[in-house]
Amino acid sequence: MNRKTDLSEAIQYLKQTLPEMSKRKIPTTPENYAVWYEYTVGKNLGLKSHVYELDKKQSEYTDEVNAELYEKYILCSSEQAEINKLKDSVRKIITELLDNLADEGEQLSDFSKTLQQFSAQIQHVSTSDGLQEMIKELLTETRKREHATHNLQQTVCSMANDIKDLRQEMERLNEEANTDSLTRVKNRRAFDIALDKAVHLSAQEQAPLSVILIDIDCFKQFNDQFGHSIGDKVLRYVASSLTQCVRGSDDVARVGGEEFAILLPDTSYEGAMSVAENCRLKISKQPLSDSKENKKLGSLTISAGVGSYQSRESIEDLMRRADACLYQSKRNGRNKVTGEKELEGNLSEDFTWI
Ligand code: GH3
Ligand code: MG
Ligand code: MG
Repeated sequence: MNRKTDLSEAIQYLKQTLPEMSKRKIPTTPENYAVWYEYTVGKNLGLKSHVYELDKKQSEYTDEVNAELYEKYILCSSEQAEINKLKDSVRKIITELLDNLADEGEQLSDFSKTLQQFSAQIQHVSTSDGLQEMIKELLTETRKREHATHNLQQTVCSMANDIKDLRQEMERLNEEANTDSLTRVKNRRAFDIALDKAVHLSAQEQAPLSVILIDIDCFKQFNDQFGHSIGDKVLRYVASSLTQCVRGSDDVARVGGEEFAILLPDTSYEGAMSVAENCRLKISKQPLSDSKENKKLGSLTISAGVGSYQSRESIEDLMRRADACLYQSKRNGRNKVTGEKELEGNLSEDFTWI
């Protein structure tokens, strides 16, 4: 483990966190510090995008707003108590580190006063014995300081290591919290976070962004015929087939029982239509079999709806259009892709995505 890197990483975060807080006039309480440390580290996308919205609206960081950020992203960012426990540990370490640094600041200022006193006294020394005595005292003080600095460096180093271990564990748990346990693609929570981020980015950079909603056709019947456990295997197969049809920058997620969504940043409507069509073809052409029981399962089909983000619309509106397209595919006989340009009739008022 590279201690120098750990130390400089921890100090780097410290250096960045406090200015972020002071820029927004946020009091340096441990709770606020935990929020802004998390923000500075930059891996909590929900928090990043919440702050982006607050800054955009030039909102004031009142006690209520700060408490909400703490509740939402530090206490309740995940239902998992384990993550909260880890976050608390990180917060404790940071608070301890801050205390140590504050002590160090005080000690440094004491040392600087001692040096000033020496400098004032030296003018009144007239003998070589006197001067020798002063130099001895100065040396003693400097050694004490050296020793204190060395101790602090060791404390900071070991704290940096603790933080690093906790971060790794947090990353592992966060990964779990964002992954669908059956298919190992992203889950609904992770999809929502990615969608939110992608919409902001698309608005900022005026880049195209598309989504595809997919639902397996007549899957209830399939389950009834072959059993739930084969159904589960098929869900895994569909997730991996969809993943094979998209680019690395696209996100495939399981957003419901037999429903998937694909997020396609930097992708036009036409591009997304052709990805959806490739997915549909790939799945419909693949004969399925259960190798364990040597049983032929026929083949499955999917229906899809494609929507592209329109400037300034809400995520809800985008998803409502994609959902309406998906249901038009179902109405028109399934095993179809419908794009928003082909939509007939009004959009459903009942639809809710968020
Ligand atoms: P449609 O073409 O209209 O979408 O018909 P459908 O049968 O696919 O839709 P419906 O909503 O009636 O049923 C969805 C079925 O998906 C119900 C359930 O049997 C199956 N399903 C949902 N989640 C899971 C799962 O985790 N594992 C398995 N094996 N099946 C699931
Ligand atoms: Mg469904
Ligand atoms: Mg279905």
